Amino acid sequence: MNKPHEPNSWEARAMANVMAGFTDFPTLHERGPMILTHGKGVRLYDTAGRDYLDANSGLWNVVCGWDHEGLIEAMVAQTRRFPAYHAFFGRMADTSVELSEKLIEVSPFATGRVFFTNSGSEANDTMVKMLWMMNRAEGKPERRKIITRINSYHGVTAVSASMTGKPYNEHFGLPLPGFLHADCPHYWRFGEEGESEAEFTARMARNLEELIEREGPETIAGFFAEPVMGAGGVIPPSKGYFEAIQPVLKRHGIPFISDEVICGFGRTGAVWGAETYGIEPDAIIASKALTCGFMPLGAVILGDAFAERMQAAAEKIEEFPHGFTSSGHPVACAVGLKAIEIILEEGLLANVRMISPYFMKRLNALADHPLGGEARGIGLMGALEVVAEKATKTPFDGALSVSERIANACLDQGLICRPLGQAVVLCPPFIMDETLLDEMFDKLETALDKVAEGLKA
Ligand code: PMP
Repeated sequence: MNKPHEPNSWEARAMANVMAGFTDFPTLHERGPMILTHGKGVRLYDTAGRDYLDANSGLWNVVCGWDHEGLIEAMVAQTRRFPAYHAFFGRMADTSVELSEKLIEVSPFATGRVFFTNSGSEANDTMVKMLWMMNRAEGKPERRKIITRINSYHGVTAVSASMTGKPYNEHFGLPLPGFLHADCPHYWRFGEEGESEAEFTARMARNLEELIEREGPETIAGFFAEPVMGAGGVIPPSKGYFEAIQPVLKRHGIPFISDEVICGFGRTGAVWGAETYGIEPDAIIASKALTCGFMPLGAVILGDAFAERMQAAAEKIEEFPHGFTSSGHPVACAVGLKAIEIILEEGLLANVRMISPYFMKRLNALADHPLGGEARGIGLMGALEVVAEKATKTPFDGALSVSERIANACLDQGLICRPLGQAVVLCPPFIMDETLLDEMFDKLETALDKVAEGLKA
């Protein structure tokens, strides 16, 4: 039943005027929109006067809480000094130079070059255009195809949506031609009867190699992967996966671009997910925690070889004809500098490492819940996948919307967490402690019990 809204209320105004994205409309009509007014620490407050523990850090990005004074001060100071600029015509804000330097310093690269965007989607688009331009400049215009993986998430612009391995992009007639999707390395879900994890991983690598050979290695421009698939439902790779696929890519001269929009700056317990999984990337895509979400900012960080090749390609045609009005926005860059300082130098990453074992302990315990299928995660990102039948891993009938029901029952407890497919996802801010983790998991358990009872009835 549709929830009625008082005329002129926030809810009524939102329902009449806002085109909501990535929103389940039956749920929206039933529950109404949630209009938030402010946040404090790890909590958010809405127009109805309720408060919520935000177990999703906004959208994986607000890792330092909602009221970090250092970030606010950095933002205000930069706004006073130089509130806006672009990065065209050889002109750029001093702050954007500083952040470029800093990003290379904290990257796995000895030298590099940074290109700023406003979002992760734009950064992935930018990287693809760079690959296309480099290859054309080097006389290999046929090297254009991009490989990503089923269930991956790389963004929503036409190119990054084509990279994203989700079925909903069919509604836009995507992917564009030349965007290929390799297997999703989720052993628990896609491992075959009697197949060991090592065998599964070997199959992933074999299938990737077959895909490359079928398409023609000389037609492939790059392989993009999230170290841990985030919006696919927090899927850490099967054991040995990156060790197995990197030699395949190397053998065929295919660059590896690590999409660190979620994993970057500490989510997996290291600065980069690439570090956690022994990935040797040619470039890194960053966003989200790069500014703790306080300003929109994305970055392409080119490693040594790419930086040289890209510069040479641009010199050849005397330009890199690409850029956004707000590329290298000085306020975003000032916030980025401060965010890196807070996360890497003021102990936030250390806190992730410290509390991760407790986070994982409570997460893993959820697998024993009657609804629990697989509990999986790393660092401070986790998911509980629910199942109708444990032994066979049979998923619930999609029409039952079980993960949505759990997330809604969490909201009723004052906890924001996110349903993704048949999983509920937790990616709390880096400032959590054990008491807050207990509150989060206790609320989730209560919600799971309520939904389990409802399903029984
Ligand atoms: N890559 C990954 C891995 C992401 O998780 C996201 C966003 N969730 C994006 C790219 C796109 O970033 P944005 O929403 O800033 O465009």
